[in-house]
Amino acid sequence: MKKQIFMNGKVMTMNQEQKECEAFIVEGEHIIKTGSNEEILAFQKDKIKIVDLRGKRVIPGLNDSHMHLLGYALSNKKVDLTHCRSLEEIAQAINRYIENEDDQYFGEWIIGHGWNHENFQVPQLPTAVFLDEISQERPILLSRACYHIGVMNHKALEMVGFSQETENPEGGHIDRLPNSEKPMGIVRESALYHAHDFIPGPEDVMQIQDLILDACQDAVKVGLTSIQSDDFGAVKSPNTVLEAYGNLEKSGALKVRMNLQMLLPTLDKLQRFIKTTGIHSQMGSERLKYGPIKILADGSLGSRTAALERPYSDDEETQGVLVYGDAQLEEILRYGKSQGMQLAIHGIGDRTMNQILGIVEGIFQKDEINHRSRIIHCQITDHAIIDKMAKLHVIADIQPGFMPTDMKIVERRVGRDRVKESYNWKTMLEGGVPVAGSSDSPVEPFNPFLGIYSAVTRRNFDGEPKAGWYPEQRLTVEEAIGIYTLGSSYATFEENSKGKIQEGYLADFIVLDRDIQTIPPQEIKGVTVEATYIGGECVYSHEETRQK
Ligand SMILES: [Zn+2]
Repeated sequence: MKKQIFMNGKVMTMNQEQKECEAFIVEGEHIIKTGSNEEILAFQKDKIKIVDLRGKRVIPGLNDSHMHLLGYALSNKKVDLTHCRSLEEIAQAINRYIENEDDQYFGEWIIGHGWNHENFQVPQLPTAVFLDEISQERPILLSRACYHIGVMNHKALEMVGFSQETENPEGGHIDRLPNSEKPMGIVRESALYHAHDFIPGPEDVMQIQDLILDACQDAVKVGLTSIQSDDFGAVKSPNTVLEAYGNLEKSGALKVRMNLQMLLPTLDKLQRFIKTTGIHSQMGSERLKYGPIKILADGSLGSRTAALERPYSDDEETQGVLVYGDAQLEEILRYGKSQGMQLAIHGIGDRTMNQILGIVEGIFQKDEINHRSRIIHCQITDHAIIDKMAKLHVIADIQPGFMPTDMKIVERRVGRDRVKESYNWKTMLEGGVPVAGSSDSPVEPFNPFLGIYSAVTRRNFDGEPKAGWYPEQRLTVEEAIGIYTLGSSYATFEENSKGKIQEGYLADFIVLDRDIQTIPPQEIKGVTVEATYIGGECVYSHEETRQK
């Protein structure tokens, strides 16, 4: 098998027994030895290729424990309206998009995102009539930068079934024309989410493969060598996703190590999926593995749908929504467990966290500590919840990159008392909760250095607040890298093969442009990747792209 020596590096190994080394040997896909330059060069023979790391900081490849890779790829196919400063500019952007459209990703629909009328010279909301001037044949839906408000043309309103007879859905609003029941085009909250259900995702396997490859190319540029992705929500049928990833793996085109999180929200869907595919968690290869089933148990803080134990501080009437009753959720999770499925549940509010933990406690015996059930997001917690997570060995899949956005609203939503014990990542780590790092892209960008920056500084990207937001919860650089390496590989039962630069581990590592350990924390968000190696193969090199 082909051997390579990597030397002259400042290598952060994440191996507690030997935290730093200068050099290592890779044979095939694995690291077979680490040590000083001298120790490693003693193994040099004529044929061994030597790579000079030029004194650069090297760390294990980063592993995003929860994102939506296809969702990210598709978000790049929408009309970007972020920079529009008038309705006219929106119309221009859409017309340009239609002219240059090479392929359709949402069926006939034209989907745009990012407008904000408060940035317009004349701050007025777009209307259905305005969009009709762009197209009356194709449905158009443009969501506002906040994702809570959208505007649709009449074709789209008709396809979704919004008319003067339609009542406002619960938790949402269809804006009407003055003195009329006729929709004017603007839809809010659940009315917008309802409309989303009508947008077809891609169905063509080849098209999905191309989307995956494009997204992977972006991912390796920021140092992601492993991705745990929840993609079923982006397409009509999960089978097309499975087929696309399967084809890419077989052809060798899939470089990033993928772990698929399988969104199967009802008992019926879960049963049918297992019966027809025979899939269970941890099946697969080192490039493509099936991960946990994914269940959404509540909503979000922004829309006040995350379920809380006590009402929202800025809306005493609202406590959020549990998506499932206890018995219903337990039935799904119990069945999943019985079929060899790992469990990953989206939970943001404390009430949801308590619901999930209560069920997990009931379905696993005390000695079954290796179930690695996961709660994705874990935002509103208290010390009792954190203690219980540690006791039950439940993994927290956190998104440090949410913090710069969330810190603006969380105190308003839940009040200081509850915030104090929320986003408590240091407390989790110190209390023995396994913590995995992720982005939830496309909700936030998947560049892991933004997440590491947030976890280390607890500041937003403008550097505020200077002292950090609840700074006692700041992580060290090593801890923050740890959650994106050790933590994320633990979440997929792969801590003995991934996440360290150590003998026997997969040769997944990245070379950084500067030493993340010693630069001022404020600079971490600007760290870039010079080279990314997966299984000893260089899958991205900054040098090469420069030469091209
Ligand atoms: Zn997600």
